[in-house]
Amino acid sequence: MREEIMNNIMKALNEREIEALRWIRRHDGISRKALAEAMGLSQASITNMSKELIDRQYVVEGERVGQGMGRKEVMLQINPNKFRYLGIDIGGYLFRIALSDSNLTIIREQVCLIEEFKRDKDPLPAMLDKIKRFLEDAGISAAEIDAAGIGVSGIVDAARRRIVNVPNIADWEELDIVSVFERHLGCPVFLDESGRAMAVAEKVFGQAKSVNDFIIVHIAYSIVAGITINGQLLRGFNNVGGLLGHITADERAGRCLCGNYGCLENLVTFPMIKSAYQRESGNQESVLDALKKNDKTAIDVCISAGKAIGIALSNTVNLFNPEVIYISGPVFENLPIVFEETKRTILLRANRYATVNLRLLSSSYGHNQGMMGALALAGTSILA
Ligand SMILES: [Zn+2]
Repeated sequence: MREEIMNNIMKALNEREIEALRWIRRHDGISRKALAEAMGLSQASITNMSKELIDRQYVVEGERVGQGMGRKEVMLQINPNKFRYLGIDIGGYLFRIALSDSNLTIIREQVCLIEEFKRDKDPLPAMLDKIKRFLEDAGISAAEIDAAGIGVSGIVDAARRRIVNVPNIADWEELDIVSVFERHLGCPVFLDESGRAMAVAEKVFGQAKSVNDFIIVHIAYSIVAGITINGQLLRGFNNVGGLLGHITADERAGRCLCGNYGCLENLVTFPMIKSAYQRESGNQESVLDALKKNDKTAIDVCISAGKAIGIALSNTVNLFNPEVIYISGPVFENLPIVFEETKRTILLRANRYATVNLRLLSSSYGHNQGMMGALALAGTSILA
């Protein structure tokens, strides 16, 4: 599939030119001299090739960068206007669409509630309508999109190109989303589970370029996680690998929408923390406002959420021994106390050999990590 797309989109380029574009993208810009060294080619052939790529608008010349006392060198960069990508992020609460340039810079985006599609057993036609209107408003035709990426907070079979199940929406089963969207949009469409898509964004475009063992966790209205081992995404036998939100955190807790009892997602998503505070305090104030006043109940609720996340992650650390855990989402961004308690619990509970030099960092794209994941699925189809 990928080779087919490469042929269609870049049939005018030879393998060496495609390799040069990949080097340029990976380095976020590279000098002709460094490119010649990286590819083992003479300066003269790189000069000719770069002229060709600039003439055909794949590459642009960026700023001059000086190294030591030497002459300043012009950096070659991917032309941001060469490719257009469409990203679709199907989350637990929001449905987001975005249009980006070749460097995944978002040009335009739209957000609506998943609720709008929940009534339909087959939500695909309504989603396509939304996307078509979004493109019309952007003044762009589907034919101008080079590739689209879809990230879904659910069970996804990327090889069969289907959404198998969305735990939070009972009726969405076996949705043939890729074929339907490819037929209507007329461009190649790539699908993966949100956590894995977020891991792709971090690995290819973000901070994890040289990190092979990492976990990425995003907690908003649902919990998604992506696990990368030896540079490969974990999928598992039935595509369920990395389903962190539905591991049992407290078996006495209530029934989850997935059918199990006491899932982590039932305890520590953003709305769950908000309602836990209201339940425990007996008032309707927001946990965010209460925290600002150092309210003890709000602090206790956040500490127990951080502890639950930390226990889940320390178990994950013992199983996969990551070098970095990247975290994002409104729970961590708005409630720093949850982040601190998560970190403390991991260091306390995970095996002490597993936590040597383990880093807990904010993900590269914060609340946009899911959308960047969807766009990265499209972007890597062309220039991985
Ligand atoms: Zn569950």
